[in-house]
Amino acid sequence: MAGEGLRPGLATVIAGDSYPAHAYERRVRRLAEDLGCHYACEALPADVAEADAVAATGKLNADPRISGILVLRPLPPQVSEAALYRALDPLKDIECVHPVNAGLLALDRPRFVPSTPASVFHLLDRYLEESGDDAAEFYRSSSVVIVGRSANVGRPAAMLAMQRGATVISCDVHSARAGLLHDHVAAADILVVAAGVPGLLGGEHVKDGVIAVDVGINAVPDQVIGGVRLVGDLDYDSVAARARAVTPVPGGVGPVTYTRLLHNTVAAARAGLGVAMARPWTEGLVSAPG
Ligand code: NDP
Repeated sequence: MAGEGLRPGLATVIAGDSYPAHAYERRVRRLAEDLGCHYACEALPADVAEADAVAATGKLNADPRISGILVLRPLPPQVSEAALYRALDPLKDIECVHPVNAGLLALDRPRFVPSTPASVFHLLDRYLEESGDDAAEFYRSSSVVIVGRSANVGRPAAMLAMQRGATVISCDVHSARAGLLHDHVAAADILVVAAGVPGLLGGEHVKDGVIAVDVGINAVPDQVIGGVRLVGDLDYDSVAARARAVTPVPGGVGPVTYTRLLHNTVAAARAGLGVAMARPWTEGLVSAPG
């Protein structure tokens, strides 16, 4: 990259004191710096006004050293996610949350594939390939159930599943309240859970042979260590007893996500200079049926 005069730059916007958001920021900073990227963080106080958060984002848009910007969640209640996402330069929106980029993803013409859903399908694609399955055929004949519908994770994950030709069912709190969640989950061939609810689903809810991806990262108190530990949305042991494969937390989707984030940062830097990626950022996508 240096030979091409390219030094990718990653920036984060963080507001308030959220423990998971700051832990994520530290991991991203360390990785960016280790890889020789420029790194900047706009750390805003919990009582920041929305207009000031938008202005901080605009500052990063205008900074030529920054190629990709990540808005960390949760944001304080007075700052709307939608307002900050709209304020991002779409060419630097590596998490694909600006309405233009979310629209392009929905139309199967993604500028960037957001890091967490990209990681989910990276793991699934590789797992199917390495197991000797015909991945394209497997998706086309599978029911993929995605629990969680956020703009960052659940919704784009559903888009990526659709791009692969799967039958996709998207569940959220309303599905649970309507008593539909467990029926849909029980029918899933591939289950992706991104609800942020520790132990939401266990072995009794899934079908034998399910492939399950746990995106949830939840800090729960641990009396033994006298602090907090991270757990997923699945009860790992009971799901593992019935599943064909299941990802652990910590250690499953999370570490891949950081890599994908940096991958998108490099892609944005290259796009800014008109240099094509050696491997396009849609790599790993399986063509939808023609
Ligand atoms: P959000 O809170 O933005 O969204 C959660 C989604 O889950 C919402 O759609 C919500 O429904 C739905 N939901 C909540 N409770 C239930 C329930 N009981 N039954 C069914 N659906 C439910 O969270 P994110 O999408 O940002 O993150 C989800 C989880 O993934 C979190 O634990 C987060 O820490 C983790 N995460 C992990 C990453 C990784 O790299 N591994 C990266 C990003 C997030 P509704 O819309 O109706 O409220």
